[in-house]
Amino acid sequence: MKKIGLFGGTFDPVHNGHLAVGQAGLRQLGLDTLYFIPASSPPHKSDQLITPFTHRVAMLRLAVQGEPRFVVSDIEGLRSGPSYTIDTLMQFRRNLGPEADFFFIIGLDAFADITTWKKYQELLNRTAFVVIDRPSHGCMSVAQVVRRCFPDYQEEAKGIWGCEGSQRIYALEMEPVPVSSSMIRDRLRRGEEIGDLIPAGVVEYLQHHRLFPAAKEKGGEN
Ligand code: ATP
Repeated sequence: MKKIGLFGGTFDPVHNGHLAVGQAGLRQLGLDTLYFIPASSPPHKSDQLITPFTHRVAMLRLAVQGEPRFVVSDIEGLRSGPSYTIDTLMQFRRNLGPEADFFFIIGLDAFADITTWKKYQELLNRTAFVVIDRPSHGCMSVAQVVRRCFPDYQEEAKGIWGCEGSQRIYALEMEPVPVSSSMIRDRLRRGEEIGDLIPAGVVEYLQHHRLFPAAKEKGGEN
């Protein structure tokens, strides 16, 4: 079996926190490949203006250079309509066949809402979940969310929960990296430095394409 990580997000833009999650996934789970999967139109961000898919994919491709186990998938851009995880997972299963063992990486904030996702029970049956603890995004731990949302799961070992008929839930251990895409966008719009928060190639790309221009610059253009 091949261990395949699936890490979905908006990645608008990708930053060092996303890459640290990827590295922790490789290390802790021994993944063979980790796919970064940008959502083309995320169902939970339908009211926000999002950078075009092609730019987000291009920035991700620059960000993952140098780690051969990181792969960027444009699978969600090839489908029309909202990007539902269950559809993406089924497509990966069709593409990679029965030899793939899936680990779906997700932030604790998103995982806490998992019961609102399309066919979430089927998702839990078909892929292991790897939940990132993001203490800055709330005071709950992975263990508390599992206990609250999934009382049938038993803790099999520290940070690993199992339930008959479902795949396991893992807590991803990583040093907190206090950065988010919204922080990056806000900084750029205020004309502040972001060089230490995202890979250099991505900084160059977004400067070249004038993504998230500073408010002054944007006003001047109009
Ligand atoms: P935004 O600030 O626009 O909401 P984001 O930084 O949370 O974006 P997403 O693309 O929405 O980025 O995130 C994809 C996944 O990565 C989510 O599950 C999110 O919780 C997780 N994530 C994002 N930033 C970090 C970080 N610094 N540390 C750990 N996980 C993160």
